[in-house]
Amino acid sequence: MEIKCPICGAPMEADTCSYCGYTEKKAPDMTVNGSTIPVQMQPQQMQQTPLPVQMQPQAAFGIPPFNQTGITPGVSRKSKSVALLLCIFLGGLGAHKFYVGKIGMGIVYLCTLGLFGLGWLIDIILILSGNFQDEFGLPLRQ
Ligand SMILES: [Zn+2]
Repeated sequence: MEIKCPICGAPMEADTCSYCGYTEKKAPDMTVNGSTIPVQMQPQQMQQTPLPVQMQPQAAFGIPPFNQTGITPGVSRKSKSVALLLCIFLGGLGAHKFYVGKIGMGIVYLCTLGLFGLGWLIDIILILSGNFQDEFGLPLRQ
């Protein structure tokens, strides 16, 4: 069964999301077997791991950021506008594929000039229609 990250919706490896850095905190094993265990009342240290905030040049494209982290659950961090521009101008080199993390496909595009122009064309349409997905199968954000 696949565990999905509650923050960004990407599939998680073990307890850690490699996409946004989210770590699933498991409750500590509090098995008390009847014996007298000195309970130390320590102030619970809330370890807040700050999410890696990557400041992307969103302003250049006139897109207001979704939130402070730029991560919306179920939506890719990758920008649709950036992917579209990369696809239009550098699509034959697979730039938009590299951008969304599809390195393998990027190399294929690079070697075949965007699947002989066909994949290039299809991807422009996919991006425009909002059906282009990143490496995790998440739709690109607006
Ligand atoms: Zn995540």
